[in-house]
Amino acid sequence: MAYQQIFSKLNLDKHTLTTGSLIVHSPLDGQELARITETPLSDAETIIQTAHAAFLEWRLVPAPKRGGLIRLFGEELRTHKEELAHLVTLECGKILEEGRGEVQEMIDMCDFAVGLSRQLYGLTIASERPGHRMMETWHPLGVIGLITPFNFPVAVWAWNACLALICGNTLVWKPSEKTPLTALACQNLLNQAITRYGIASNPLQHLLIGGQKLGEALVSNPNIPLISATGSSRMGQHVAPKVASRFGQCLLELGGNNGMIVAPSADLKLATHAILFSAVGTAGQRCTTLRRAFIHETIYDTLVNDLKKRYQSLAIGNPLAKETLVGPLIDQNSYQAMQATLNQAHQEGGKIFGGKRVLEETYPHAYYVCPAIVEIPQQTPVVQTETFAPILYVMKYKNFEEVLTLHNDVAQGLSSSIFTNDIREAETFMSAQGSDCGIANVNIGPSGAEIGGAFGGNKETGGGRESGSDAWKNYMRQATNTINYSRDLPLAQGIKFDA
Ligand code: NAD
Repeated sequence: MAYQQIFSKLNLDKHTLTTGSLIVHSPLDGQELARITETPLSDAETIIQTAHAAFLEWRLVPAPKRGGLIRLFGEELRTHKEELAHLVTLECGKILEEGRGEVQEMIDMCDFAVGLSRQLYGLTIASERPGHRMMETWHPLGVIGLITPFNFPVAVWAWNACLALICGNTLVWKPSEKTPLTALACQNLLNQAITRYGIASNPLQHLLIGGQKLGEALVSNPNIPLISATGSSRMGQHVAPKVASRFGQCLLELGGNNGMIVAPSADLKLATHAILFSAVGTAGQRCTTLRRAFIHETIYDTLVNDLKKRYQSLAIGNPLAKETLVGPLIDQNSYQAMQATLNQAHQEGGKIFGGKRVLEETYPHAYYVCPAIVEIPQQTPVVQTETFAPILYVMKYKNFEEVLTLHNDVAQGLSSSIFTNDIREAETFMSAQGSDCGIANVNIGPSGAEIGGAFGGNKETGGGRESGSDAWKNYMRQATNTINYSRDLPLAQGIKFDA
């Protein structure tokens, strides 16, 4: 699909794409895709106030009716799946198959949210007092501030937006400055759904297009009760204390350093396949990318040699081409960070396989790399750090108890997995003494979650949970109601107060 065709199908008109100062480059070839107008910092306050005014109305719409809007939005996504997937690929560089997967995830999220809009349940609780009833009710929070990263430019937004909207909130979204086009496209699709729903000029979501300063404006604004921020742990470290200082709430989805244990009983065919997708898919630029593999010493040589062979035959190249499995890194900084990390790994005793730049002549302004495998004796400082590039550290282990400790011995706690056919190992890995991550899988890789489960991680990953299960509760406030239908006023705990 030609660029212009994609833009026009997503209603990205020439004026929007050519009149601003924020230059968007495609990681595919470094070509300039657009010049977009940034939101002036001075507009942020008014935008947040407008979103708050809209919230006062939207919160009164019954939740199942709010779900009706998300149903229409899901229809728009179904109709525009192909062009939005192409735009995701053009702007963030993931292969088209994964771009399609990302849009499918948004569609799944819409379906989930529509159902949920009839299930925002609270409990009824037995009261200890005669003639009394207790219950809990859930209410929307207000304007939700969304900050999102470049690598899942549309799905992360949809996880948040679909739930926040059916819960009765309005949104101000600051997408990554590296991927504003996909954000504008999503806004257009939401606008279309909102018009079909019968509301004029989308009051429910506003965009802040630009960099960190706009994110900071959201974070410090007291009219935003919840900041949902996805990105690096460094960003979370800035955001969390600022939001806490004004007693706001944070939903943080930050960096990962995801591990896999491959036990002696593992099905090596499955494990190899899972390692390949998890370590090199999205060119190592997923929060759930596999970065640390602990392989039992009895199978280590076989598995690592096989992986090296497969790494050599990986199709690296233009992510729009059907056969490509590994697209480009997002930009030059990312490439430089990868090379610096490989140098550090070498200095810390790592044996490096791959990691070099390729296709430089064809794409002098883009950064394609061979994914790297680093054989390293132990978890040195480099292994403890998330470098957002396809670097897989492989380490030998002898003993299951020891490897569990090693697995958890990093600051991040997002995703993890074990390949084993030993039920004791599998269950232990998922138990209180096992993986300390928010996601712990058995016989599948750490990457590629379904929307039905709560997604998120512990420790420096930030503790947030999004998408499935009861993540919707993050976007609502809970009230406990006690109703007295008796003619007396008994006090709780049997306290007598005869005034
Ligand atoms: P980033 O932290 O550089 O930027 C993310 C967003 O935060 C951007 O919109 C950016 O403008 C904004 N931002 C940066 N500093 C800010 C500040 N001080 N105040 C307010 N906003 C600020 O991350 P990135 O490079 O776009 O994405 C990659 C990172 O995101 C990786 O660490 C990856 O693991 C993480 N990530 C996590 C998840 C998850 O669900 N846990 C999902 C995707 C990506």
